[in-house]
Amino acid sequence: MNNSESKKFGFGTKAIHAGQSPHGDSASVMTPIYQTSTYAQKSPGQHTGYEYARTDNPTRTAYQECVAALENGKHALAFSSGLATIDTLFHTLKSGDHIICSDDVYGGTFRLFDKILTRFKLEFTFMDLSDIAAVEKAIKPNTKMLWIESPTNPMLKIFDIEALAKMSRAKKVLSVVDNTFMSPYFQRPLDLGTDAVVHSITKYMNGHSDVVGGVFITNDTKLHEEMKYLQNAVGAVPAPQDCFLVMRGLKTLHIRMKQHQENAIEIANFLVKHPKVEKVIYPGLESHPQHALAKKQMTGFGGMISFTIKGGLTESRKLLETTKLFTLAESLGGVESLIEHPAIMTHASVPLENRQKLGISDNLVRISVGIEDVQDLIEDLKNALSAV
Ligand code: PLP
Repeated sequence: MNNSESKKFGFGTKAIHAGQSPHGDSASVMTPIYQTSTYAQKSPGQHTGYEYARTDNPTRTAYQECVAALENGKHALAFSSGLATIDTLFHTLKSGDHIICSDDVYGGTFRLFDKILTRFKLEFTFMDLSDIAAVEKAIKPNTKMLWIESPTNPMLKIFDIEALAKMSRAKKVLSVVDNTFMSPYFQRPLDLGTDAVVHSITKYMNGHSDVVGGVFITNDTKLHEEMKYLQNAVGAVPAPQDCFLVMRGLKTLHIRMKQHQENAIEIANFLVKHPKVEKVIYPGLESHPQHALAKKQMTGFGGMISFTIKGGLTESRKLLETTKLFTLAESLGGVESLIEHPAIMTHASVPLENRQKLGISDNLVRISVGIEDVQDLIEDLKNALSAV
């Protein structure tokens, strides 16, 4: 089923069929893993459309079409990691360009922007994107991109994507959303008016914690063509087997996301009532400062919860060392539950002063709620909290 054929179908049907149809002479139902680096040509320059596997690979083509369909986008391109996707996108800019970025972003994104891309004289302003007028005021003649992570990692702040996209379009600034935390099942930024979307597919999209990868999706054919050129010219492409694995993961994205959310709601409600927990941050809770906005622009609240425990590092360390089903590990979005300490682990590259301003404190814990039986997960947290 190609991208335009898939338009009339629902999310689950697209997740299973988009970009895929019985393949080759055997009509294999699953797209094969084209484990090849090159393709035969009949005569110099006379080829099937596939010349060299950095440029294109049929397994990757099918995967890209599936992702484009899920995000309601015309085009998608796959990369070897989420950060490689972001880095390739920044090759569309030149030194002297200015970028506005949400203040709370994944630590690796912050490191890429603040430590690497500034070496090439790209200029960044990190700010709270909640105040649209302030963001508009921060736009300068050299501002080329607005980087929106919503919900943010790890504080789960939510920004008004539609309003930011409208404002930046009027100012001719490219708006890009990192949609890793929601997946297209719960949030589709292109439908809200943004120019492009990126994902770390390492997380919910693949969903099984066995692949590192990223994707870029847009409706803008000119931007897509530039990114396609860069995908080949810079070369951070995913391996064919990884493309196959992600496509397999995508087939259950809708089922997994529903279960992540169902479990997360129960766990958030359990944590809210627990005497050793100070504050729970989950977009699905009415106490979340942008709960109304979350309901407006997302169709669900996802499976990520951050919370503070009463006390400091000693208490959070004890909790993190004691859980059994919640594995202490970086990353998120897999079928298994994970727990981590943002200040020491995922966000260590964010300077202490910024972390303090954002609330990434020593007693902040982030959990990625998996799809195990929720009562087992609650029991695990209950036991670990009682050990604190
Ligand atoms: N964006 C977000 C929101 C993330 O959480 C991550 C990784 O944790 C990335 C981007 C980077 O993706 P990757 O680890 O696949 O390079």
